[in-house]
Order: sequence, then C-alpha cells, then structure tokens
Amino acid sequence: MQPGISLRMEAYRRPEARDALSRILREGGAYSTDHPAEILRELSELGILREVARESWMRDPGTGATSFTLRPSCPYCGSFSLGKEDLLEHVGCGYVGRASEFMRDGGCAVCPRCGRPAEVRRIGSWFYCRSCGRSFHSPRIFASSGGKAIPAEDLELVEAARYELAPGIADEVRGVLSLYSSLEGRLRSFGYSVEPARAITGTSGVRHVFDFVALGEGPMVLADVILGESEQMLLANLLGRVIRYLDAPRGSTLLLVLAPRSDLPKQLLRGCCPGSLRTVEGEDPEEAAAALGALDLRANPG
Ligand SMILES: [Zn+2]
Ligand SMILES: [Zn+2]
Repeated sequence: MQPGISLRMEAYRRPEARDALSRILREGGAYSTDHPAEILRELSELGILREVARESWMRDPGTGATSFTLRPSCPYCGSFSLGKEDLLEHVGCGYVGRASEFMRDGGCAVCPRCGRPAEVRRIGSWFYCRSCGRSFHSPRIFASSGGKAIPAEDLELVEAARYELAPGIADEVRGVLSLYSSLEGRLRSFGYSVEPARAITGTSGVRHVFDFVALGEGPMVLADVILGESEQMLLANLLGRVIRYLDAPRGSTLLLVLAPRSDLPKQLLRGCCPGSLRTVEGEDPEEAAAALGALDLRANPG
C-alpha cells in the first residue's frame, strides 16, 4: 500500500525537501548531484519521487565545472593556433589529400597527382598547426571554463540518477508547497521575520522544531502544518507532535494549519497548551491555503 500524505509530511516539513520538490516541479526533474542524497532517498522511499534514469557527464575535478568551451590544441607543440581542412579523395585514382591541394579551376577540382579534373569525395578532416606546421587527425582537446583549461582526459566522470515526481503525486506536491509558501508569506505580511524549521526552547527547557517560527512585535508565532488523508490520520499526525504544543512557551501563539477540517485538535489542546491556540482549516491543502487569507494575527492575538 502507498503511504498516505500523513506519512509524507515528515519529508514535506523539511525546507530542503521543499526546495528540491519546487525545483523538480518547475524543471520536470532533478539529478542526484543537485540535492542532498539523503533528501532524495527519503522522498523516493515515501513515494514522492522515483528514479527514472542514470546518466553521466564530465566534470572538472578541481572546480566542479560541468559546462565547457572545447579548445583543440596541437598534440606536438601545444599551440592553440590550429586550422582544419577537409580531407578529399579523388574517386578516379584514389589519391587522398587536403582540400587546398585540389586546386579549383573555375569551380572544378583538379587532382594534384594525376592532373585530371577530379570527382572528389570527402573522407574526413585534418587539423594543421600554424606554429609547428604539422598535421594530425585528432587534436588534443582542452576543456575551458571560467578562464581555466584542463586536458579533456583529466576530466572526471560523474554519474547521477535522474529523479522525477512519482505518477499521480504532482497535485499533492503542488498543493503542499503552495500551502507552505502561503503560510510563510502570510506570516511575513504581518511584519514578522519568519524562519523555517527553527528550534525553540519550550517551558521544560527541551528544544522543539516548528515548521515556521515568526518573530516580531507581536507574540512569537509557532506555526505547524498538519495534514492527513483522513481525520483519524490528521489526529495521529498531531499526536506525534503534541509534546511540543504542550511545551510551547507562555505568551506565544501556536498556529496550526489543518487539513482536513477537524475539531479534534482544538478539543485536545484547549486548556493544555500554554500558548494561545489558533487554527486555520481546509478540506485539502488548497482550501487551507485560501483560508490563510482571513487570518489576522496582529488584530486578534488571543
Ligand atoms: Zn587523381
Ligand atoms: Zn604544433
């Protein structure tokens, strides 16, 4: 059975996971080198991401650069002053030479060996060095990036897994990300400075991490998003975090954003939570995000 949204919340709560997911939503996918491996693994285990391919590319082991300008150099003297010419064959006699050797006479190539007007075919190309005059098939390639060039053979191979969203999960991910960004934006709109995944010392002296801690002129706001696929799972998710709510510092505001709607969290925490309790509810994350528009933490702090 696929784990439900209440299990996936442990990943959605992490700001690094939300960063990875918002990039994957925007760009269609991401590589294992773009984000911490542990985050991608967790998102995969929870059925949010899936590995779709393994790919490889070259990287400068010194600078980590992966985009380069390729510069050919002479394998004999190292000069970067090279020319390139087509290598032609006279179909009639089999002579092979540089294009410049087949002198053109009124648009007609003439074979330098047999002197006949030649029907030629291109069989490849040929580099020549303007410094030492030698010719060769394969120049030495340097990969140049940010003013630094290293021989292509010194680049290292990077292998990476490509991750995309698991089938059917995009709407949920979009809804959860938009709920988190609406919550953060709403808290900022009241003039608070907002920190994601910040730890606060409770009245017991133990430190607890909240989804957002908002600090400003009003009471400190400790905000958590609690989502469940059913009211029962919403409550299970709340119970997993209830210690921090019962330990909230006095004078703080505990803001719980809930979906689906439920009275159980309020019934459970009323009278036990030392902070003042505020809830914002919706049937799903989109509805809860919309309900945040009516929240006023300044005018009605209690
Ligand atoms: Zn010829
Ligand atoms: Zn040379």
